[in-house]
Amino acid sequence: METDIDTATLTTPRVAFDNSYARDLEGTYVRWQPAGSKSARLVWLNRDLAAELGLDADEWASPAGLAVLGGNVVPASAQPIAQAYAGHQFGGFSPQLGDGRALLLGELIDRHGRRRDIAFKGSGRTPFSRGGDGKAALGPVLREVIVGEAMAALGIPTTRALAAVATGEPVFRDRPLPGAILTRVAASHLRVGTFQFFAARGDQARLKQLADYAITRHDPQLVDAPDRYLRFVESVIERQAALVARWMGVGFIHGVMNTDNTTISGETIDYGPCAFIEAYDPATVFSSIDTQGRYAYGNQPGIMQWNLARFAETLLPLIDDDPQHALARATDAINGFAPRYDTHWRSLLRAKLGLDDGGDATGDLKLAEDFLALLQQHRVDFTLGFRRLAEAADGHDAPLETLFGEGVGALRSWLGDCRVRWQLSPTAAPERAAAMRRVNPIYIARNHRVEAALAAATDSDDLEPMHRLLAVLAHPFDEQPGDADYTQPAPPEQTACYQTFCGT
Ligand code: AMP
Ligand code: MG
Repeated sequence: METDIDTATLTTPRVAFDNSYARDLEGTYVRWQPAGSKSARLVWLNRDLAAELGLDADEWASPAGLAVLGGNVVPASAQPIAQAYAGHQFGGFSPQLGDGRALLLGELIDRHGRRRDIAFKGSGRTPFSRGGDGKAALGPVLREVIVGEAMAALGIPTTRALAAVATGEPVFRDRPLPGAILTRVAASHLRVGTFQFFAARGDQARLKQLADYAITRHDPQLVDAPDRYLRFVESVIERQAALVARWMGVGFIHGVMNTDNTTISGETIDYGPCAFIEAYDPATVFSSIDTQGRYAYGNQPGIMQWNLARFAETLLPLIDDDPQHALARATDAINGFAPRYDTHWRSLLRAKLGLDDGGDATGDLKLAEDFLALLQQHRVDFTLGFRRLAEAADGHDAPLETLFGEGVGALRSWLGDCRVRWQLSPTAAPERAAAMRRVNPIYIARNHRVEAALAAATDSDDLEPMHRLLAVLAHPFDEQPGDADYTQPAPPEQTACYQTFCGT
């Protein structure tokens, strides 16, 4: 659907934004308006998410809805703002980043009573834009759509796309590309970098305001707690430890784990140079700009701990009046990341291996590590390796054995040990296999599939591959005969030269 019609004649969809960020955090943002689109065309609307938000999807897909999603009309209850934030990018600190191509339109209370941010990405320049054009290209916008939906279907905390709109204007990168606006839904857009912005300026008053706001929004149980700032830090640590374990469990590489891309809510944000590992190798990096491998798959837990240390630093003055005490307490909290992460990761690994009933933790960990070592040694696809292990739990070893090639002898020996362990528990084989299938997806957003969908949309205006891919990714644990192609990794030579680029 395309609009060149006079937006003044349209009835803007009914929507009741409630803008706590704009209301409570004056001085942490700039009021700003979206640039608008030349001829907005709806590329994708998330009808399920619209319903969750209490929005009428038909209304939002209409010309009046499109006028809003294309940035040409701002609903009366919205208060668009560009948020200030700073951030460590690849380890180097930038004291001022901020929403250079994004705007928070406002917040909605969803059907479950949760406050959700509704924000644009690619809606034009703001005072934070510096040299950038404030725009986004269609391909990267659709990557956010696809990978965000894939993560949501996997049950992994994530921001999600509500809509993607083509603006009808080109954006200039290494070549002209179709421009687009993403409408993104998030538990909030508070980032580690939001706190860093005010810490870097020594603005204690704003930091306290931000922390109080964040606690009310994300950790309301702590509002009246003594020690609430320390406990807030611990709570963010816990959410992020759980999140990164979930990423690791599906082979997800975020690709640009800068502190401005690390949320306070514990949701995954910013699907730029992200990718999924295929042949299992912790050193895997796909991002063209990550030349040092800082954000390699296996480095993600350590990087997250580092990012959270930067977060804790910003709150030291609130944690304790005595700087020595504050530092000691924050350090303790940060040191808690690794054991928290290990707890999540080990319990996930046990579930992935069908070992989460009985057995001893040390023996199970050894078994899991041995399996990972085998996957790595024989360059087995991470996703298929675990999924086909579920078939083996049900007595069908062939699909798993096929993946191992010459490593089949080593696999059989390991499988013998695993069977001994499975027999220690009372769970029957079919139930164990079913439980394993519920944690080991058969469909992930495979890099070559995502690329093909983006290329079709960008180069040939063909949205069919994206729709098809989204339909498959909506049921990641449920294998369907017609979708067999989507289970397969790219040819190894293609994966070997696969590179991702930042979504600018
Ligand atoms: P992102 O890669 O979206 O996380 O952005 C990192 C920082 O660069 C943020 O401050 C963005 O606002 C800014 N930025 C990225 N792309 C653009 C762009 N095209 N125009 C203006 N600012 C941008
Ligand atoms: Mg970002």
